[in-house]
Amino acid sequence: MFTPLPLEYKANQRRMSCVSLYTEQSEVEGARRAGEGKMNEKDYFNYELQHIDSKTGARAGVLTTPHGKIETPIFMPVGTNSAVKSLTGDQIKSTGAQIILGNSYHLYLRAGDKRIRDFGGIHGWMNWDKPVLTDSGGFQVFSLGHLNKITEDGVEFQDPKNGERHYISPEISMEIQQNIGADIIMAFDQCAPYPCDYDFAKSAMERTHRWLERCFKAKTNPKQALFPIVQGAFFEDLRTESAKVISTFDAVGYAIGGVSVGEPKDVQKHFTEFTAPLLPQNKPRYLMGVGTPEDLLDGIKAGIDMFDCVLPTRNARHGSFFTWNGKSNIKNKKYEDDSLPLVENCDCYACKNHSRAYIRHLWKCQEATASTLLSIHNIRFLLNFVHLCREAILEDRFEEFYNEHYKNLEAIQLFHHYRQIKRLDCHALTGS
Ligand SMILES: [Zn+2]
Repeated sequence: MFTPLPLEYKANQRRMSCVSLYTEQSEVEGARRAGEGKMNEKDYFNYELQHIDSKTGARAGVLTTPHGKIETPIFMPVGTNSAVKSLTGDQIKSTGAQIILGNSYHLYLRAGDKRIRDFGGIHGWMNWDKPVLTDSGGFQVFSLGHLNKITEDGVEFQDPKNGERHYISPEISMEIQQNIGADIIMAFDQCAPYPCDYDFAKSAMERTHRWLERCFKAKTNPKQALFPIVQGAFFEDLRTESAKVISTFDAVGYAIGGVSVGEPKDVQKHFTEFTAPLLPQNKPRYLMGVGTPEDLLDGIKAGIDMFDCVLPTRNARHGSFFTWNGKSNIKNKKYEDDSLPLVENCDCYACKNHSRAYIRHLWKCQEATASTLLSIHNIRFLLNFVHLCREAILEDRFEEFYNEHYKNLEAIQLFHHYRQIKRLDCHALTGS
């Protein structure tokens, strides 16, 4: 089994690799560019921590990127295939989105990263002038790809759509993400599934750390910030070790990965609260793949600054929309003659212009506009939600805000849970 190196040794090794890099600068053009990349990243990125709520760990800040500023805490809508599903660029902007997320795995397989590069990177490709973040493809390779063969060098996988074989290593992931050209790029990591045993989680975490070193060496563009990712599954000592190791890399920001992989909500909440304070205080913290309103409240309370989730658009495609009292569904017959907007006082395009009855009618007729309107509302709702959280933090009243809103959201959750239990009881009675 792989024996982990002591943390001090890893830190020294990191420093040594920087020294040797500077030595090579005058000799090798590629290394010179790499050296510049590492030296100049801070010229393009800055994080200002504005306030920490005095009763919780909630933080408000501003992250500056080459394509603009992001006020945190922030929710990042997901545009898997370089489009937020069913929305045009103008519609995404109308939601107030400050940054969107793209998936390297899908962009590499479907669009081709070199084609995107030739169209001016992701910003030119999709005509989006605000910040973009891409994930490394690691999560999808392990969760969507077939026939994974993992070696120390990288991962071989099969495209589930056409059977083609592909290979991604930390260096290739960096090349793909540099071709795509997002402002924030993510380390290529091995995300452990849930549940998994301790030895597997430890091994995946240690590989993630070794791959991180290679990602930093391969990254050359100073206009891109590479975020390392904490792994370690649901073991506190591994999360602690992982946070320590990745913190030795002087990154613009840090992410918590390996959550939202099927674990119970209370487990996710505990490990978010446990891991967030282990990361550097003066850098943004990104909780990957998490984004229900109650998750946002818990994450922000724990000191998380950035969130992403497919939920607002996925829910919209199922007729579901966010309200201040939890989710509701436009398919519900009670909305048939309802002249109110989806949420009263919501300032999104859908709520300002249309009734529940009209959107329900579009849904029943399978008009694509129904999904578009619900997606606009759901994204705007979450962005409004994090903005209100931010205001509460800046005014040092986040705990009151949390208590007020969590209660409403929790009441609905309990209601759904109760209904599930009732349904199970019915099945037990009928033997179905
Ligand atoms: Zn709305």
